[in-house]
Amino acid sequence: MSESKRVFLSSPSMGGGEQKYIAKAFDTNWIAPLGANVDEFEDVVARYVGASSALALNSGTAALHLGLKALGVQRGDIVFCSDLTFAASCNPICYEGATPVFIDCEPESWNMSPAALERAFEDHDPKAVVVVHLYGEPANMAAIKELCDARGVPVLEDAAESLGATVGGRHTGTVGMLGVYSFNGNKIITTSGGGMLVSDEGVLIDKARFWSTQARDKALHYQHSELGYNYRLSNVCAGIGLGQMEVLEDHIARKRAIRDAYAAAFAGNGQVALNPVDVYGLGNRWLTCLSVDPQSGVAPLDVIEALAKENIESRPIWKPMSLQPYYEKCPAYSHDGGERFVGWRIFEHGLCLPSDINMSEEDLGRVVDVVSRLFS
Ligand SMILES: *Cc1c(COP(=O)(O)O)cnc(C)c1O
Repeated sequence: MSESKRVFLSSPSMGGGEQKYIAKAFDTNWIAPLGANVDEFEDVVARYVGASSALALNSGTAALHLGLKALGVQRGDIVFCSDLTFAASCNPICYEGATPVFIDCEPESWNMSPAALERAFEDHDPKAVVVVHLYGEPANMAAIKELCDARGVPVLEDAAESLGATVGGRHTGTVGMLGVYSFNGNKIITTSGGGMLVSDEGVLIDKARFWSTQARDKALHYQHSELGYNYRLSNVCAGIGLGQMEVLEDHIARKRAIRDAYAAAFAGNGQVALNPVDVYGLGNRWLTCLSVDPQSGVAPLDVIEALAKENIESRPIWKPMSLQPYYEKCPAYSHDGGERFVGWRIFEHGLCLPSDINMSEEDLGRVVDVVSRLFS
């Protein structure tokens, strides 16, 4: 029996134009350090999302780090951050010696709970708030911005997963003072590894640009008055990004079709539900997630294992930061003020389904069959 074709969670999908931009980098011998592709990639992304300035970096994590630094976060500061997310959202807070305080999500959107945020504000005076748009779905930016604006606290949007999603008619990543995108291999578009920091505050981007290239003073003799980093995106990787921007809308359309197909396939199954979408805007459908009714007797891990047996990749929901050994001593605020966090329940009962735009209809049918069989 031949091994069935591997189905991936979310794999890279090249549009075809990437090679042309990479060739340009080779032809001009601008392989490194920077070059025309980097400048153009920044322009194209800034124009697409509607931000006035953009800085291309070698990861979304680096963009978050320099974003926090640009907001003046330093040792001893408090920074609020979404609790249900990937660790890269909050690790940079610790790079700067600040303390994260985690804010639970709300059941309606799986994103930051304004109620929990408001209670956290009663106890702390944070330097910044990091809001994640989880799995590509916009958070309640109107409510979150109102709470932060009233206290003069800047918002840094972790839009690593949500490039192309909009909220209140604006792109996620451009509602707060700063926004971050990731071009890691499994994101909606990829540069094989990369990130972008965007803002309408050009001075913040200029500052981050300075730090990202080793913080060299304007002198020939390698003088440094500040601590620098080597965080810039290469001209070759930026070429991949330029090709990927040409197919971003197509990727979103295909991710939406995957979500719609799952929704149709599981519509009659009362024991499973999909993650909420389009609650506050239009999501990009990066990953479609499944929540399993605890009464069903089927655990998310059973689903992940059954899929793995058929050579299909899926994975758990991000483990909330308030449950992480590294972060367990940090303060955290639940949605309803009780002991149990909404995010813990989502983590315990959910998983991410294959949401790969390279999947065929037949591949998707295989996923649906495996899941459906578990619940019959
Ligand atoms: C992927 C991701 C990041 C980090 O991006 P990298 O480019 O991998 O460094 C940050 N936050 C979230 C929510 C992510 O999913």
